[in-house]
Amino acid sequence: MSRRRQIYEGKAKILYEGPEPGTLIQYFKDDATAFNAQKKGTIQGKGVINNRISEYVFTRLNHIGVPNHFIRRLNMREQLVRQVEIIPIEVVVRNVAAGSISKRLGIPEGEMLPHTLIEYYYKDDALGDPMVAEEHIACFGWANHDEMQDIAAMAIRVNDFMAGMFAAINIRLVDFKLEFGRIWDGDYSRVILADEISPDGCRLWDMVTGEKLDKDRFRRDLGGEEEAYQEVARRLGLLQDDGGPSEVLDLSKHRKLRGK
Ligand code: 5GP
Repeated sequence: MSRRRQIYEGKAKILYEGPEPGTLIQYFKDDATAFNAQKKGTIQGKGVINNRISEYVFTRLNHIGVPNHFIRRLNMREQLVRQVEIIPIEVVVRNVAAGSISKRLGIPEGEMLPHTLIEYYYKDDALGDPMVAEEHIACFGWANHDEMQDIAAMAIRVNDFMAGMFAAINIRLVDFKLEFGRIWDGDYSRVILADEISPDGCRLWDMVTGEKLDKDRFRRDLGGEEEAYQEVARRLGLLQDDGGPSEVLDLSKHRKLRGK
């Protein structure tokens, strides 16, 4: 196997140079972090499941005309994506109060919001990803007005689509985080959806029992995170009912294969 140049290693993913210019390989790790990486751990098989769930969601979003970076899945833990210039903003969409909005504004967890909220956070680990207003985004030039209009419109479309997709399998889409990036064509750029969509960056609650099926199980020491991720994949029809993914490559094996 040929060596690939590593472009970036994040908390849950590694990016390698892709086979053609303008492409990257996104490798999904089992590593889990929370509270700005103050809490670290592993969720066995998470990378395999997130790779699969993200493939599924991005493919379906592509079918309804939400442009995104996904090209194709390469293997259990890797997918080929378009290289983008990441916009340093985390876009959070909320349907139900939970997490930081409950803490910040004292709204009880589980309360339906009167309407869907979009919030923006500046991507900066050292600052703990602070919430920012559109005025800050414009003022510091992180994205321009037209880009923000496209981002908000795509975020709402993703929410409408995913809320329906999860409702069909008895899961409430409470909130989620998206990231966007620019692709350039000469002097012109356009914004597309990037990163991943998986239980790492969504709050997913069972509609009947209220059980959490997402990374809050890890963040809040609830246990059963492997099973929760598998349950989401199983309900989406991405796993056999009788067990987990057939080949769960771990990171150390992967690093050896890559010669690192
Ligand atoms: P909160 O602001 O309540 O902590 O998070 C809102 C939603 O965005 C949750 O679904 C959470 O998983 C997601 N989210 C916010 N920031 C991050 C982040 O840095 N990484 C990931 N994976 N998800 C995030």
